Amino acid sequence: MDIKNKNITIIGAVKSGVGAAKLIKKLGGHPFVSDSGTESKLTAYITKLKAADIEFEIGSHSERIFQCEIMVVSPGVPSNAEVLVKAREKGIKLISEIELAGYFCKGNIIAITGTNGKTTTTSLCGHIMNACGFKTYLAGNIGLAFSEIALDVKEDEFVSLEVSSFQLDLIDGFKPKVAMILNITPDHLNRYENKFENYINSKLRIYKNMDAGDCLVLNNDDEVLTKSLTKRNSKDLFFSLNKEQNNGCYVKDGKVIFARDGKEEFSCGIADINLKGEHNIANAMASICAAKIFGGDNKKITGALSSFQGVEHRLEFVREIDGVKFINDSKATNVDSVWYALKSFDEPIFLILGGLDKGNDYNQIKDLVLKNVVKIYAIGSSADKVFNFFHSFVKVEIKPSLQEVVLAANNEARQNEIVLLSPACASFDMFDSYEHRGKVFKEAVNNL
Ligand code: ADP
Repeated sequence: MDIKNKNITIIGAVKSGVGAAKLIKKLGGHPFVSDSGTESKLTAYITKLKAADIEFEIGSHSERIFQCEIMVVSPGVPSNAEVLVKAREKGIKLISEIELAGYFCKGNIIAITGTNGKTTTTSLCGHIMNACGFKTYLAGNIGLAFSEIALDVKEDEFVSLEVSSFQLDLIDGFKPKVAMILNITPDHLNRYENKFENYINSKLRIYKNMDAGDCLVLNNDDEVLTKSLTKRNSKDLFFSLNKEQNNGCYVKDGKVIFARDGKEEFSCGIADINLKGEHNIANAMASICAAKIFGGDNKKITGALSSFQGVEHRLEFVREIDGVKFINDSKATNVDSVWYALKSFDEPIFLILGGLDKGNDYNQIKDLVLKNVVKIYAIGSSADKVFNFFHSFVKVEIKPSLQEVVLAANNEARQNEIVLLSPACASFDMFDSYEHRGKVFKEAVNNL
């Protein structure tokens, strides 16, 4: 990719866009950033663009954006956005930020995708790799944008990189050394013409350039994934909670085992993994595979699994009051992640559901709700939908705010019960982000 002296437009002035612009500038190109959002929402990024002396426009896209050969598109911009359609018509090459950064990164990329578990696994994988003595950067949604660190990563170093389907839609030569597909369930379908198949195909793009020297780590319990896999040139490792694997990781008799060609090379107790829930054992198995591919030391891997502290807003323990535990799972923005959250506790649960609905089908969690949930508090713009679906078989109360939910739950929950914010919805109806929602919840709990 030739960047020097080239005009390159970046659509979207948030984390990855700003990172991409800085990288292009470092490489001698002329970046121009354009974002149709409002200044007030982009203040922090505008400051960064100014500090880096990068040209930009905010509020609308001018014709200048088309004066380029390459356009770097931020993941938040839908592929049918008018600017992208026009750019394609003009023959401009559209790429994602990981395509750009990946091209200039000399180190080994461990690319992690899936509907759920990306951030947790990216963070855990980085933690294990670093514990094994392999210098590993965290990048993507977690940590810095890939472009911010791409040039710093040396040949014998690593990047644990969180990759979304939106970024995969616009790759061309992106070639990770290791790629993981953790799971695929329906999400973001509004960006894929409501076709699940399109979303699946987008995830599978992660291995399109991988060859025999690369390794793909796949969830063997996920039928959508295993049935959709197409021809690939990389080696495969599989992980499974249910079935022994000849090449990969599996669970047997309370242990997690890694085998190659049927020969056990690593094992640790499930209890050594300092995370709650089966889904996190799956995330841990995927991470173990990565560390073993590069020859990570067994003791160091086990030590890292025990010392991992989890990631904020993902089944995060907030506080225990009179035997009632408050758990913040604000990042559960789809039904599948709530299913795993409900599976992670044996105690009776007061569940907080609702927010901006993404076409949720609650049938998937109906049985678990019947089994484990004492009461649902419904919040946000989908409160009525939650009420209508659940009220005939479990108590449901609609509440106007998270603060009021927390007060009510504190009165109603008894010893050994759980109050769980795992809303299955996006947050933008009431909050700036899922982080904001999680913070409001934690503040309310800490104010009790
Ligand atoms: P992502 O970055 O893909 O959104 P996160 O690690 O941020 O994933 O987790 C998002 C939500 O999904 C949290 O509620 C978390 O508890 C849940 N989760 C984490 N890993 C998995 C998994 N492997 N399968 C299903 N849900 C998961």
